[in-house]
Amino acid sequence: MNIPRSNNPRVVIIGGGFGGISLAQKLRKQEVQVVLLDKNNYHTFQPLLYQVSTGGLEPDSIAYPLRKVLIGYDNFFFRLAEVTEILPDKQLLKTTIGEISYDYLVVATGSETNFFGNTELEQHAMAMKSIPQSLNLRSLILENFEQALLTDEYHERDALMNFVIVGGGPTGVELAGALAEIKKGILPKDYPDLDTRRAQINLVQGGDRLLDAMSEKASEKAEKFLEDLGVQVWKNVRVTGYDGKTVRTKTDLVFETATLIWAAGVKGATIKGLDAKELIAGGNRLSVNEFNQVIGFPNIFAIGDIACMQSEEAPRGHPMMAQPAIQQGRKLGENLVRLINGKSLEPFIYKDKGSMATVGRNKAVCDLKNIRFQGVFAWFVWMFVHLFFLIGFRNRVVVFVNWVYNYIRFDREARLIIRPFKRNYDQFRD
Ligand SMILES: Cc1cc2nc3c(=O)[nH]c(=O)nc-3n(C[C@H](O)[C@H](O)[C@H](O)COP(=O)(O)OP(=O)(O)OC[C@H]3O[C@@H](n4cnc5c(N)ncnc54)[C@H](O)[C@@H]3O)c2cc1C
Repeated sequence: MNIPRSNNPRVVIIGGGFGGISLAQKLRKQEVQVVLLDKNNYHTFQPLLYQVSTGGLEPDSIAYPLRKVLIGYDNFFFRLAEVTEILPDKQLLKTTIGEISYDYLVVATGSETNFFGNTELEQHAMAMKSIPQSLNLRSLILENFEQALLTDEYHERDALMNFVIVGGGPTGVELAGALAEIKKGILPKDYPDLDTRRAQINLVQGGDRLLDAMSEKASEKAEKFLEDLGVQVWKNVRVTGYDGKTVRTKTDLVFETATLIWAAGVKGATIKGLDAKELIAGGNRLSVNEFNQVIGFPNIFAIGDIACMQSEEAPRGHPMMAQPAIQQGRKLGENLVRLINGKSLEPFIYKDKGSMATVGRNKAVCDLKNIRFQGVFAWFVWMFVHLFFLIGFRNRVVVFVNWVYNYIRFDREARLIIRPFKRNYDQFRD
């Protein structure tokens, strides 16, 4: 990899997500050599992926070059590489560009879409965990309407304009709201020769309420907002399969659709060599102690979505959200310095700042530490928080300008099929 060995200990971080970046920033002025490896050369701001999928934002505005994060620091190296195996006995990593040794390893690989072993769903459903996947979804949504224009077959046209989103967490709720706004504000103008009133947005939730990690009030309000926007919310419905045409559920309910979007769960993105059964806690996450140390490996740490730190307050680990990843990255930065200087480690304590979700224009729900609110003010708070945590000044400006423009014009100009998603429509018709 052409990375010189220095006199300082080498900390290798796998993954430049929220956790990896926060850690790297914490280590920038310390006497360590930091090597950051990521399979992408950019950081993805995942909370806004749904806006890329629905043409509200260009993909570049939610991505940030990883090399720029620590520009100008001599002890920092970035390599574009996917780590394929960890060899803890040799303190060595195998990657797509060669091998690298480490003194301290930090696994910050995040999570991947969880289809719960259903290969049929995995093959036919659309996931939204990365920018390429969001672009695929954006193309597919638009291609479906182009196809709908071409067919006289009534059922086929309806299925092309029927969107089924599985998962009533923030991602499902936000996506459903955005699609409903497109139906209302954009489709009638873009497709005057298509009866777009027949387009349907179905949100399917396995449990008995949406946003089940938030307060009951937030759930109720989000559902009300969605229904006002014309979204059909199905609760207590479990999807069992999708063959590219028909969504089957545990009940009699079926949906005929060309688009099933899977937002029903994620699981830790483990790497071969550090994936033995005894290391894994719920959600395929690595079991870590209160210092984020992988149990049984004193010089290997895990942070963010991939880490499961079980405690009395968090029996199933911390939520797989940006805040735990950021806070764990920062704390681990301090702890690594302590470790290298022979000091004892300090436990990680999570400061829960609350959670929020937006349903659309002027509609959001916020559960903050001591206060809960919904509606227009919540929507402004949601926007402010997302702009604040978005990485890069340019990105903040671009996103802000886009939002103001979209708000004033009721528009989403990035509705472009730049990289077509190659769906086999013949197979769909058969
Ligand atoms: C659609 C969506 C919406 C979300 N909305 C919110 C929200 O509103 N609020 C919130 O708090 N959280 C939200 N989240 C969750 C949040 O994005 C994650 O909790 C957070 O990104 C976790 O940070 P992380 O550092 O653990 O991992 P990530 O940010 O996922 O970063 C992991 C990094 O590791 C890299 N990587 C993975 N495997 C390898 C490998 N083998 N080799 C090299 N590199 C690798 C990846 O390329 C990636 O850059 C959302 C997630 C999604 C998918």
